[in-house]
Amino acid sequence: MRFIGVVFLIAALFAGFIFSLPEPEGFPILEYHTVTNNPLPESEIYNVPPAEFSAQLDYLQENGYTTITLNDFIKARRYGKPLPPKPIILTFDDGYADNYTEMLPILEAHGMTAVIFVITNELGKPGYLTLDQLKDLQKRGIEIGSHSADHLPLVTLNAEFLDNQIRKSKIFLEWNGLDPIGSFSYPNGIYNIEIIEMLKEQNYLAAVTGEAGLNTLKSDPYKLRRVNIRKPRFGIFEFRWRLLKANIFERLKNL
Ligand SMILES: [Zn+2]
Repeated sequence: MRFIGVVFLIAALFAGFIFSLPEPEGFPILEYHTVTNNPLPESEIYNVPPAEFSAQLDYLQENGYTTITLNDFIKARRYGKPLPPKPIILTFDDGYADNYTEMLPILEAHGMTAVIFVITNELGKPGYLTLDQLKDLQKRGIEIGSHSADHLPLVTLNAEFLDNQIRKSKIFLEWNGLDPIGSFSYPNGIYNIEIIEMLKEQNYLAAVTGEAGLNTLKSDPYKLRRVNIRKPRFGIFEFRWRLLKANIFERLKNL
């Protein structure tokens, strides 16, 4: 009993210490994949069922968050266009069809926006978004970004293959009638300096990684951090915990 008391006291002192540190400035970028009641076996670990997703957006709304796009972030960074008080970016990797059929209606019911990163060679295949859906998403204010052409580990590719994945995935979308593509999501979150240089040459303005944490206007726009949202096992508490965890890490980093 005494032992449990000591553990509890230490935990309480630690929590007190963490929350006495200044509130971190950064804002979260959430990383989602699919939002459906019928996920494919390979995407099940990433899937957030629609009812849970809706509850997460309710939570963000009740807590004063405003969704923005990466394009808004870039405009704020480059031209000083002000951001709302508690900005947050919702990102969706891989370009699954349910982002249009199931996620979008919930997003719009909350008056929110998002960024969807597509694998261009998967477009139109069963389970994936089509070009027409992407055009409609852009019309509705959703930002479309590239998640490469084939979702290969980019750091293992030679220059020619890298060009296919980075430059050609962007021009494929633009030549098929989409508005300019400004953002990129590294497949599996992995990147190196050559890949960043190629993104800059090809006029990508921002890129998101798989690294955990928050972002500020001073963050390197090609190394943006994310908060990974996986299949929830403990409902909204898990979602709140993931946001809180990013906040705690950021406080500790500022020590
Ligand atoms: Zn991916």
